[in-house]
Amino acid sequence: MVLGDFEITHIQPARYRWDGGTFFGVVPKTLWGSKAPTDELNRIEVAFNSYVIRTGDHTILIETGAGDKLDSRARERMALPEKHEDLPGIVAAHGIDPETVDIVINSHLHFDHCGGNTILTDAGPVAAFPRARYFAPRGDWEHAHERHPRDSVSYNDANYDPLVDSGKMSLVDGDAEIVPGVRMRRAPGHNRDMCVVTAESGGRTFCFFSDLVPTTNHTQPTWVAAFDIYPVESIDQKTVWLGRAADEAWICGLGHDSRVGFTRIERDERKQFRAHPLP
Ligand SMILES: [Zn+2]
Repeated sequence: MVLGDFEITHIQPARYRWDGGTFFGVVPKTLWGSKAPTDELNRIEVAFNSYVIRTGDHTILIETGAGDKLDSRARERMALPEKHEDLPGIVAAHGIDPETVDIVINSHLHFDHCGGNTILTDAGPVAAFPRARYFAPRGDWEHAHERHPRDSVSYNDANYDPLVDSGKMSLVDGDAEIVPGVRMRRAPGHNRDMCVVTAESGGRTFCFFSDLVPTTNHTQPTWVAAFDIYPVESIDQKTVWLGRAADEAWICGLGHDSRVGFTRIERDERKQFRAHPLP
C-alpha cells in the first residue's frame, strides 16, 4: 500500500482462535454468529495484525503479536501452532530486512500486541529488533504494574520492562508525533490509555485502529468486545474515529481481523458505519 511518500505493509504474525462471545460483548450470538462462524469450542478465527511503515527515513513496525512467551496450554487454547514462528523472520519473508526496523510502536501493552517486542534467551528476554527504539503509552505501562485483577492476565512484564530498563523503550504521555507524519493518539475504551496510530503523507492518512475496531464486524459503534474495560467510552471513541475515517477517506488497519489487511470505512444508514475492505 503506497500512501504519499510512505509504503505500508500488512504483516500477520499469526492467526488464532478466541472465544466469540468475548469479542462481541453484549451483542447476542444470534446477531454476530452468521458473520463470524464459530468452531466446536465457540471460538472465532482472528489474528494478530502488524504493519510496517517505510517512510524513506524510517522503518516503523506497529505491534509485534503474541511472541514466544505463551505456554503450550495457552497456545492450544488459542489454536496457535505448537511452535512459535519468530517475527523478525516473518518480517524478512515480506522482503523487509528486520535489521532496518528502527522504530517499534505498541498501541498498548497487552501480550497480544507487544509479545514479539522481546525474544527469550538463556540470558533472559532481549530486544527482538535490536536497532529499534520502542514506543508505548506510559499510562498503560503504569496500569500494567498496578496488576488489577480485571486485566492483569493480559500483561507480561518480559515484553516491555527489559526495554524500559535498558532505555530502549520510550513511554509516551498522551498524543505524540513519533516521526514526521506518524502519531500515537490516545483512544481510550479498550483500556484507559490505548492509542491508535496514524500515518499521514501526501494528504492521505492510514490509521491503525488496534482494539478500538478489532475486526470488520466491529465497525458498528455499539459492537464492543467484552474485554473492553470502558465500553461506553469505546462507543464514543469509535463514533469519533470512524467518522473521521469515513469523511476523510482514510485507509485503515484493524487489530485482529484475520482476512482484511486494509479497509476503508463508509457511513451506513442502518449500522452507522461499515467496512469496505481493499483488495
Ligand atoms: Zn488485542
